[in-house]
Amino acid sequence: MDKRIQQSSCMLQEYFGENVFNDRVMLQRLPKKTYLELRRAIEEGEELTLETADIIANEMKEWAMERGATHFTHWFQPLTGVTAEKHDSFLSTPLTDGRVLMTLSGRELIKGEPDASSFPSGGLRATFEARGYTIWDCTSPAFIRHDEGGATLCIPTAFCSYTGEALDQKTPLLRSMEAIDREATRLLRLFGNTSSRHVIPFVGAEQEYFIIDREKYLKRMDLIFTGRTLFGAMPPKGQELDDHYFGTLRPRIASYMKEVNEELWKLGVPAKTQHNEAAPAQHELAPVFEKVNVAVDHNQVIMQTLKRVASRHGLRCLLHEKPFAGVNGSGKHDNWSLMTDDGINLLDPGKTPHDNIQFLLILTSILKAVDIHADLLRESAADVGNDLRLGGSEAPPAIISVFLGEQLEDVLEQLIHTGKADKTKEGGKLLTGVSTLSDISKDGTDRNRTSPFAFTGNKFEFRMVGSRDSIATPNVVLNTIVAEAFREASEELEAAGKEHFQETVHRLIKRYATDHIRIVFNGNGYSESWITEARRRGLPNLPSMVDAIETLGTEKAVKLFEKFGVFSRKELLSRMEVKYETYAKDMNIEARTMLELTSKQLIPAMIRGVRLIADCVNSVKAAGVQAGVQEELLRELSDLLSEASEAKKHLEEVTASAEQHPAGRQQAILFRDKVVPAMAALRAPIDAAEMIVDKELWPIPSYADLMFEV
Ligand code: ADP
Ligand code: MG
Repeated sequence: MDKRIQQSSCMLQEYFGENVFNDRVMLQRLPKKTYLELRRAIEEGEELTLETADIIANEMKEWAMERGATHFTHWFQPLTGVTAEKHDSFLSTPLTDGRVLMTLSGRELIKGEPDASSFPSGGLRATFEARGYTIWDCTSPAFIRHDEGGATLCIPTAFCSYTGEALDQKTPLLRSMEAIDREATRLLRLFGNTSSRHVIPFVGAEQEYFIIDREKYLKRMDLIFTGRTLFGAMPPKGQELDDHYFGTLRPRIASYMKEVNEELWKLGVPAKTQHNEAAPAQHELAPVFEKVNVAVDHNQVIMQTLKRVASRHGLRCLLHEKPFAGVNGSGKHDNWSLMTDDGINLLDPGKTPHDNIQFLLILTSILKAVDIHADLLRESAADVGNDLRLGGSEAPPAIISVFLGEQLEDVLEQLIHTGKADKTKEGGKLLTGVSTLSDISKDGTDRNRTSPFAFTGNKFEFRMVGSRDSIATPNVVLNTIVAEAFREASEELEAAGKEHFQETVHRLIKRYATDHIRIVFNGNGYSESWITEARRRGLPNLPSMVDAIETLGTEKAVKLFEKFGVFSRKELLSRMEVKYETYAKDMNIEARTMLELTSKQLIPAMIRGVRLIADCVNSVKAAGVQAGVQEELLRELSDLLSEASEAKKHLEEVTASAEQHPAGRQQAILFRDKVVPAMAALRAPIDAAEMIVDKELWPIPSYADLMFEV
């Protein structure tokens, strides 16, 4: 191998995680006793004494300063969808002799106090009772971020109100991890597993994104304010040739990705796979799966890094779910499995019949969970941008179903239909299932890209999540609904007692499979017939975010989340409020941007276009020549101009009246039902005009300029 190449791959091993205060660093730098106490806090949730926290904080500061850090920040994930941070330098009060000390105390490490009233809280925090706390999440390692502002020590934290309500994405996630840990371990004990101490959800999130040229981006107000194009005629070429997917990376993109990877590796993010995606200018990055709370943090780091590095390359990264109409939008596949602390994947079909019974119970419990709480899982992917993507033959429809693959579905069908078989026969059938299952684990199931929730060999892949969204919420829902199903199974097994264990397991598997097989669908999720079929099966179809939000307030949801201490009723209601407001605000910004773009740039361009053609008509006629074609164009463009002008007036009216409406569900509905159609009505004549007006006169870069010229 080329020496230089060899060197650079060896270097990777050296610099991977160099900016992370990870286990290796802690083991090296902390006194043994402190290290062990911290490990117990991370693994068993034991509380740290302030004394220990002081030692850790001081060492963390020393380590960070050696790497050039001057500031630290509590890094948290409020309900804005992005991360938040407030920087403090290590500087402490100057000494009397004029020197300064650099410090980070245990208290500063553990607790911060940002003003909670300035973040969305859905009424949980009013301005007069603004106290909120950020609390160190010692399970996710601190890291140093280098950017234009210098080096900053980022300390991952949870964000709660003074009264203990979660104001962020992370707190409920940590709570849900405890719930699934407790219930899954309890179930494992019943199957005779005495060695595994914990069960942890592992997640790998595949991130899709678009890259465009920064100069062109800056010429489009819609991209700047809303992250997507609100206008734009389709270019002659879209993604129909499928030549972009997995295509060779263009040099500019390749060098961008190289730097993204290097940055991520230094931050200990195991970026692994990268490729071109289906749409022109669309790409994907997938890391190796990690513990879900770390995966959630790392996904945020990935999104930030994608954006930051793009600016350095004169590029812009678009994370919106649907930056361009007419080509695929972006999502995030959330690959989820359950792993014990001693390395057993509970979703691995396994090799022995005994394990397979356990696997089948786990599998059917998950089916049950997903069927009962399909609405909540759908809601967890609800996002303004995702409304433009779900159901558009590029992403799953807004109906939750599970893809198991033919073999596994066949096993379930057998189980359902052999109910009258005696125990041995049932066991025999299960054995048949076993060989089928181990085949599956070897060969992998066939692919079904249209399914929102697909079993892919030893994990489930939830494909509905939007590209901008935190993966926290989907995993909170998954962890909690599966914890509930496990708890119910354990309760029945415990009640039946040891001597009836085997038959009870078989009975449960059969019952769950029978009762919830309706959620299994292996066909084409993009087809019209599936929508009809799903309705017949009674599966919920919630096409818009506004429909989905309601599911958080149902008694079913409140009972579920309260039972596992993941959300209180109050927290759920406040989150609903935040979401309705987010929907309304986002739509309002889109409508306002559209109006401004129309008035200041696009209608003037159309008028210039009209003038140009009119001049042409006049001069042609003056020359005594017929101007039929020119006149027709003139009429066409003038008609579009008046159509656009009417549509603009209408959009102005409906937007103003929706704005006036008090915040909440009704307002969100007004935006969806009145403003969204009015936006579409304005877009149509303007996109048509773009095809007529001279390109030189069109004031914003076209779709072709944006998607094909990077
Ligand atoms: P696929 O091609 O089926 O999507 P990949 O192996 O490319 O599968 O993985 C996609 C994502 O799923 C990656 O982020 C990967 O790390 C993650 N992944 C793989 N195995 C597991 C697992 N057991 N649990 C959670 N995530 C996983
Ligand atoms: Mg995948």
